[in-house]
Amino acid sequence: MIEMREVHKTYPNGVRALNGINIKIQKGEFVYVVGPSGAGKSTFIKMMYREEKPTTGLMLVNGMNVGTIKDTEVPMFRRNLGVIFQDFKLLPTLTVYENVAFAMEVIEEEPEVIQKRVMDVLNQVKIGHKANMKPNELSGGEQQRVAIARAIVNRPKVLIADEPTGNLDPETTWGIMDILKEISDTGTTIIMATHNREIVNTIKKRVIAIEKGRIVRDEARGEYGYED
Ligand code: ADP
Ligand code: ADP
Repeated sequence: MIEMREVHKTYPNGVRALNGINIKIQKGEFVYVVGPSGAGKSTFIKMMYREEKPTTGLMLVNGMNVGTIKDTEVPMFRRNLGVIFQDFKLLPTLTVYENVAFAMEVIEEEPEVIQKRVMDVLNQVKIGHKANMKPNELSGGEQQRVAIARAIVNRPKVLIADEPTGNLDPETTWGIMDILKEISDTGTTIIMATHNREIVNTIKKRVIAIEKGRIVRDEARGEYGYED
């Protein structure tokens, strides 16, 4: 599903963000990516959705080689991926419903399919009752629910989450984790960069720890392992 072989990433300014990464992630796995600031977690995550490309090495996501995908092929590549961020990245002028529908409109789904699916997925993340509100009328946790709905509306094989609870209070955080667990239970692969020790140590999953651009730990039911 996801494979990296001897992946290196050097930014144009010469910073070596990743130095020889080798991993395999199978369908349906839930993986936390942990490590100190500047370790290379974001670079690792960004390569998964081809926001960055490896400098050298092989990287396969859903059977496509991230290093050689053409710009014109990126929309097709991203159809099988959902991405959520710490800051939600919702479109502020659109309603909740429209934010999620937009993700289906760009792949040219039929309007009848869109209407049904958008409400179904908003209900799944328990925000259907706020479909007509704008993002700024919602709490952080509610906005992240909308972002999750948008990310999964096209039924991606992989959900990528970059610090999804970084802006949320503890109680809201657990609600978001419940939703991610439900999505994981449907067979979606989830890769989540996080600094939340309590989550990693409580909801036990595979942990990949990155330090100075290298994987220093890869455990099936790992611990957070840092004091920060
Ligand atoms: P983390 O997410 O673990 O904090 P990053 O992947 O953001 O780590 O960063 C890894 C290293 O790459 C850091 O030294 C950072 O300063 C550098 N870096 C990240 N993005 C860029 C960029 N666009 N250009 C140059 N250097 C970058
Ligand atoms: P249900 O949840 O039973 O589908 P709703 O009253 O929520 O019923 O929605 C009725 C129809 O209108 C559905 O097809 C839904 O997809 C669509 N819909 C709901 N909210 C919006 C909205 N804000 N903008 C456009 N269409 C919407």
